[in-house]
Amino acid sequence: MARILLVRPEESRSKYDFQGVIENECLDLEWICKILSDQGHEVTIFDKQVESASFTSFIADKQFEVFYGESRCFQEPFILEYAKAFKDKYNGLVILGGIHAQICRQRLFQDYVDLILSGYNYYDLPSIIEGRRDADNLSYKTAAGWISNSTEAVDINDLPWPDRSCFYAHPERYQYLELKHAMWIRSSFSCPYRCRFCIRNRMNNSLYSRRNVYDLIDEIESNDNENVYLVDDDFLFDEKYLQNFLDEIRKRKIRRKYICYGRADFICSHEKLMKEFADLGLYYVLVGFEDIRNSRLNDYNKVNTVENNEKCIEICNRYGIRLMAMFILGLDYMGRDFSDLYAYIKKHDLKHVAVSIYTPELGISKDVEYITDDLTHFDYLHLVCKPDHLSVRSWYFHYYVLLIKLFLKARRDGVYDFIDYGDYIRSFIRNIFMKEKTHE
Ligand code: SF4
Repeated sequence: MARILLVRPEESRSKYDFQGVIENECLDLEWICKILSDQGHEVTIFDKQVESASFTSFIADKQFEVFYGESRCFQEPFILEYAKAFKDKYNGLVILGGIHAQICRQRLFQDYVDLILSGYNYYDLPSIIEGRRDADNLSYKTAAGWISNSTEAVDINDLPWPDRSCFYAHPERYQYLELKHAMWIRSSFSCPYRCRFCIRNRMNNSLYSRRNVYDLIDEIESNDNENVYLVDDDFLFDEKYLQNFLDEIRKRKIRRKYICYGRADFICSHEKLMKEFADLGLYYVLVGFEDIRNSRLNDYNKVNTVENNEKCIEICNRYGIRLMAMFILGLDYMGRDFSDLYAYIKKHDLKHVAVSIYTPELGISKDVEYITDDLTHFDYLHLVCKPDHLSVRSWYFHYYVLLIKLFLKARRDGVYDFIDYGDYIRSFIRNIFMKEKTHE
């Protein structure tokens, strides 16, 4: 049996790493941990999001034989650094997987990497470690170069419940805003919608797979964690599924604070269900508003309207559901667009707002000219392409002014009192006066 190290790198090495604000449980590694441990392997998780030791000191005396690392696009430099350090030290088997591997596996074809798993068939890892090379979604290195097997979707019901030892070893960590120690749980892979900017619908070979609702509830019930983060890309998708979920948690008297993603169009057309969910503990709903103009929503292929977004605000307010409205700042934005967005947020008194910079994703975007080859900038906090009308410097100026206004509003509203507003605001002001390439 092998000594196996599972690695998730840090989200960022800049100031904005969201530590102490949003910390995501490493659910995929926990699935893998369960699968490999059940086969008798000795498995250790290194989650740099919560681990203070450096990677090299962590692995110094542990004699690992296998490395499995996952990453998103903006973590690529970090996971490659760790994979190389592991190979240099132990010369063991190096496997990479995760979201980035599902979209851009060729970028991970490196000398010090042996295998790439670009699918959710984690149950194949024990045989892959033993030498099997015909598994779906596997790329492997040969003397003649890399070979990739066919990519196939996975039925989420074929995965076991995760081994949450790592989550429970850090009771003060893994949070969503003020909801501490929020347990991640997933009921589906991929998303049935096809929003143009989004890679989530490309996961699992673009096939939506949903878990048996009673199995999902069994897992929630099996531990007494107060905060439950339903991390499906769109949990509020299927009316019947949601009704069964609510009926069953009511019947079993399961009381939790739930966080989930949902779409405004579903929320508008299912007000009664949203009321029921609120009564049963829905705390945060995260909704991609994306923009305040229908023309841009159409351009994004969002299949939703500004009118729905506004009705969604009313419904969430009516039932005391905390709405996290997420917007995308377009590359075509002029100064006016930034101030219009702020005016909209103020007019509708949106308390929780997240803004991302439009980022054409590597691997799915065609005919894009990037202005950076630094993958850490693909974190939705940096421009990776030239804006259409403004200079990079001017676009950033409006961006940071918007952030400062949003943080001042949040401070007035008292919604994020667990963060140091002053620290963020000072840093945004510094960024306004920085040269283009050195934004933190
Ligand atoms: S609905 Fe959400 S998760 Fe699905 S494709 Fe659109 S943005 Fe992505």
